[in-house]
Amino acid sequence: MYKILKKDGRAKRAEFTTVHGTVQTPVFMNVGTVAAIKGAVATSDLEQIGTQIELSNTYHLHVRPGDQVVKKLGGLHKFMSWDKPILTDSGGFQVFSLSSLRKIKEEGVYFNSHIDGRKIFMGPEESMQIQSNLASTIAMAFDECAPALAERDYVEKSVARTTRWLARCKAEMQRLNSLPDTINQNQLLFGINQGAIYEDIRIEHAKEISQMDLDGYAIGGLAVGETHEDMYRIIEAVTPYLPEDKPTYLMGVGTPANILEAVDRGVDFFDCVYPSRNGRHGHLYTNLGKINLFNAKYELDDRPIEEGCQCPACRRYSRAYIRHLLKAKEMLGMRLCVLHNLYFYNTMMTEIRDAIDRGEYQAYKKRKLDGMMNGQV
Ligand SMILES: [Zn+2]
Repeated sequence: MYKILKKDGRAKRAEFTTVHGTVQTPVFMNVGTVAAIKGAVATSDLEQIGTQIELSNTYHLHVRPGDQVVKKLGGLHKFMSWDKPILTDSGGFQVFSLSSLRKIKEEGVYFNSHIDGRKIFMGPEESMQIQSNLASTIAMAFDECAPALAERDYVEKSVARTTRWLARCKAEMQRLNSLPDTINQNQLLFGINQGAIYEDIRIEHAKEISQMDLDGYAIGGLAVGETHEDMYRIIEAVTPYLPEDKPTYLMGVGTPANILEAVDRGVDFFDCVYPSRNGRHGHLYTNLGKINLFNAKYELDDRPIEEGCQCPACRRYSRAYIRHLLKAKEMLGMRLCVLHNLYFYNTMMTEIRDAIDRGEYQAYKKRKLDGMMNGQV
């Protein structure tokens, strides 16, 4: 159940109650692709850094270890020892982005596994079955994420097919949720808005899927190569046509600035690999801008990554030490950097919620953006 607690302009402050607990939004979902956060971060760590909800990738888990294996072990929550909400993506994005050999048909997509090359078929029903086996809290509809710069004609046909696929996803999810051996019979389904950077296609599609009474609505197919201006323009155009009384999820976005702007346009669920990927490369987020710990000027710097940060890395270790670990290729270096970055994102979301609660979102956003752009680290 989704309940709006407060609005500040178009920014929504809400809570979303699921069988695995309540999520306070706006929220950043921490990405654990193959049921692990890259950088040797465990679910026990997530509990220490304020993670409310974890995201795992259906395609990767289907290929390895296999969703049947996860089901036999009691579902993803038990498998990775995490009792809070989990969102699984549909597998569609990886099917379209990872596999070079693929054929899109009305029934679904034929492609080759990126691990061993074996032939796989995935359509709406298969995606729902895999996600049901994984038993995530929230399943995502199987869609086609058309390239941002695709021709209008292609995008129209693709979006129409995505709508037909969505109806099939919903029917299959209802069937699966009614089966006695389904692990999570309350699995939720979010639909996905597509339409590349064509406002009118996006809006028509948003109106259509809004009629389908889903548990939440995502904006997909952004941050895939278009400009930030195009991305903000599309979000601004589409959110008024998605149900306000349901969660609004912007898939795969993004930088702290992207998130601050999207919250301002009514989005309240986010996920992105940036904090963990950047962390693994020694690129760290702070309120005074990004720093690269490989830079020689940190060699003798005994300050924490960010003064005052309460993350497990900053409470104990210096920039100089973590820099040394990174250069020595010690896994601990990556791990500390990822923990800091995820903590930074999660803490920013707490600040965002507090600012909306106080009705001061605009002032907060400006202060945060100014600090990150103009600060001296
Ligand atoms: Zn920190």
